[in-house]
Amino acid sequence: MRILILGGTTEARLLAERLAPRRDLEVTLALAGRTSNPVPHPVPVRIGGFGGAVGLAEYLKAERVDRLIDATHPYAAQMSENAARAAALAGIPLLALRRPAWTPVAGDRWTEVADAGAAAHALGAIPRRVFLALGRKELAPFVAAPQHYYLVRSVDAVEPPLAVSRATYIRARGPFREKEDRALLAAHAIDTVVSKNSGGDAAYGKIAAARALGAAVIMLRRPPLPAVPAVEHIDDAVAWLDHPPDHPPGHGPTSPVRGV
Ligand code: NAP
Repeated sequence: MRILILGGTTEARLLAERLAPRRDLEVTLALAGRTSNPVPHPVPVRIGGFGGAVGLAEYLKAERVDRLIDATHPYAAQMSENAARAAALAGIPLLALRRPAWTPVAGDRWTEVADAGAAAHALGAIPRRVFLALGRKELAPFVAAPQHYYLVRSVDAVEPPLAVSRATYIRARGPFREKEDRALLAAHAIDTVVSKNSGGDAAYGKIAAARALGAAVIMLRRPPLPAVPAVEHIDDAVAWLDHPPDHPPGHGPTSPVRGV
């Protein structure tokens, strides 16, 4: 059986690791190509877009892919939409593997906003010391709020730097633990963290650190995602592959999930 995993997440890589030794499966993983030096994967990797839903459907047919797994980041809404349309066009089963979102707990000071522009606005007029835990391509709206100090952490360099007078750039790749993020936020006297609700453990350090330090969190809400069969755990995705798509195992891919 030929499988295409749409990747770019820890879960996609871990799923590929689980499937790579299996001789009954031929697995390829697709990356958008957002980072110049991606983490190695144990299966063949295809880098770059497909040319929208139609391009992906053509690829699925040309490569005789039997099943598609959308394990992209929960904010990669365009790709998830393309996956849903392409699977329908190509007539193959699709499963989404999506991490559950984080939810606030006692001590959290979250403000939820729609997107990066709304986050920049929500920082307000009074200068704050802000940790921007967003992708490089989501930073532009903060130029409109140059009164704040920004600490920016990204995998690749932010080029050109933001047109603001006070910013510090750190290059690092997760996972990030609470202890190191607490030290980082304290060292830069951060009072506000801007974050996506990525879910999972690898990026949760800054959220726990903000809670411990009493810092505010401006959380970008997850975008709506297509209603397709979805699971939250790698085991359930493996089980889905081992069953005919019309007879899904146990809990999991039976109920359509939107915006998880
Ligand atoms: P997107 O806006 O949903 O996708 C834009 C286009 O990128 C897609 O239409 C597709 O191009 C291509 N693409 C996306 N994922 C792909 C994949 N796995 N394989 C091949 N092509 C892919 O997604 P995004 O631009 O990657 O990111 C949107 C949000 O997700 C951002 O907030 C970003 O920080 C976050 N995020 C993404 C990744 C990642 O690895 N992609 C990882 C972590 C976080 P075509 O239409 O040409 O096929």
